[in-house]
Amino acid sequence: MKAFISVDMEGMPYIVIPGHLGIKGTLYEEARKTATKVSLIVAEELHKNGFEGVVIADSHGTMVNLLVDELPEYVEIVRGFPRPLSMIAGIEDCEAALFLGYHAKFGTAKSSFDHTYSGGSINKLEVNGVEVSEFLLNAYAAGEYNVPIILVAGEAQLLKDDVKKYAPWAQTVALKHSLSRVSAKSQSMKSIEKELRKSVNNAVNAFKRKKAKTLTVQKPVKMGVTFLVSHFADVAEMLPTAKRVSGLKVEYSAKNMTEAYRTFELLVLAASGISSILSQLV
Ligand SMILES: [Zn+2]
Repeated sequence: MKAFISVDMEGMPYIVIPGHLGIKGTLYEEARKTATKVSLIVAEELHKNGFEGVVIADSHGTMVNLLVDELPEYVEIVRGFPRPLSMIAGIEDCEAALFLGYHAKFGTAKSSFDHTYSGGSINKLEVNGVEVSEFLLNAYAAGEYNVPIILVAGEAQLLKDDVKKYAPWAQTVALKHSLSRVSAKSQSMKSIEKELRKSVNNAVNAFKRKKAKTLTVQKPVKMGVTFLVSHFADVAEMLPTAKRVSGLKVEYSAKNMTEAYRTFELLVLAASGISSILSQLV
């Protein structure tokens, strides 16, 4: 039995300023230590609870954040970006999934680094008309592989808004309570560790009792992507399957969540491509 862990950073405890998040950030080393610690606590508890293997997908920014020196032998790690299935790369041969360090979608008030997949390009992402957070997007995509989400640990508002609503069976651990976009209150790592271990135990027990459900979407999947600026939509509508529905928004339809996700990744990369080309023309 194998478990899958996707690790983002904006919903991790103590990570509150931009200097925590980028590879050149002033407090980046502190942040990656925190993310590694949280991930390894969860991996260890999963292993103790009967998962012989744990796949960890390093899923923030350039996706090379976690420190790999201390990885136990039962852990495999997915690093680097871009990659197919992005934040859930490696989920294919796993039975249960856990999301750590996850955060609320763009436009959420007083919520640590609220954004949806790309803070530089995306205003809103809809799957079959439902506005999704990264949690929901990844949970729908995990459903394609019959993998239920059994635990989400991250920013409190995400847990309240989306996890309780769409995956009420999942265990939740609030790693931080935001006071603003760039400040938050968190418990000590000792308390967090205790809560994480207890919640992983509960999550695995519920999973073994078949209480965890797999999220599914109606197919074909209708995706709506609203960008932050119109030239991102100008580029996106060049994709033959994309239809421009407003200045900022394109829609496309995909035969399943895997295809929907891959196309979305491509549109985000196209936006970042045009952004970088234009920034060289000033
Ligand atoms: Zn992130």
